[in-house]
Amino acid sequence: MKTLKRINSFNQVFFLLIVGLISDEECIAQPEIPVEQWKGKIILLIGAHPDDDQQSHGTLALLNANDNQIYILTLTTGNVGTKDPKLSQTDLAKIRRQEQVAAMKEIGLGENRYINLGYDDGRLEFADREEVVGKLVHFIRKFKPDVLMMFDPGYNYQVWHKSDHRTAAYLAADASRAAEWPLMYEGDIIQDKLEAHLISEYLFYGGNTKDKNTLVDISNFANQRVEAGTKYVSQWTSGWDNYLGPDINDYPEGEKEKLYEKIQSRIKIVDGKSVERFRYHKGIPDTMGHERRD
Ligand SMILES: [Zn+2]
Repeated sequence: MKTLKRINSFNQVFFLLIVGLISDEECIAQPEIPVEQWKGKIILLIGAHPDDDQQSHGTLALLNANDNQIYILTLTTGNVGTKDPKLSQTDLAKIRRQEQVAAMKEIGLGENRYINLGYDDGRLEFADREEVVGKLVHFIRKFKPDVLMMFDPGYNYQVWHKSDHRTAAYLAADASRAAEWPLMYEGDIIQDKLEAHLISEYLFYGGNTKDKNTLVDISNFANQRVEAGTKYVSQWTSGWDNYLGPDINDYPEGEKEKLYEKIQSRIKIVDGKSVERFRYHKGIPDTMGHERRD
């Protein structure tokens, strides 16, 4: 019994040491300059659907207010996400664009900061990967982002996401890698006079909680995040089954309050502050998904 106790306490000490080491490593992985103090950076967010950026809206509003230049690129039009039988794919693609542009306006971003590559919702994994990566490489070289925000492809293991999200994670990872090699997709360079571009900072969203190493205090931007979130009425209200237009006031009584409550409740609170959490990576794209190996 005594021996077992000793082993247990040894294990506890060992465990604490390991946790200590991991914590140290996580600290190193955080940005040297806190995200709240970033200025003058170019930031590109790649998502699969119009609204995938919503979970980062506080951070995007903050970065925009601090003179960073932000672009949001969405791979699909979001043209199948409805249960309303009255809507066609074309109708929905238009609605989703309108919602996205309205949401971006709330966080201070004009329509000129929105790029949609027009792929079909739900089938991104069947799109021509060569073509999608080529298009992403083009926009990376055109905007020259300092920071890429994207779905977390995973750290040491592949993170499970639903289909378009997991596809978007890996397409973005592959494109960020390809963009740095001048002989890859060299049409951009020869014909469009763009330059190869290396992105060395990443903020990954949507990953496993234990991998997240960076908290962004969005307290001063939480209201903007909520206002932006309430623009997605076709997704997060009874508009999902019965779309009645973009104005939440046109929906049945109580819907507006419910929607605001829903968006508000998604904001994480840590130590009394509203926060958004990310996994930050600094380094070449090849190493974004794994720790140092021997
Ligand atoms: Zn999505």
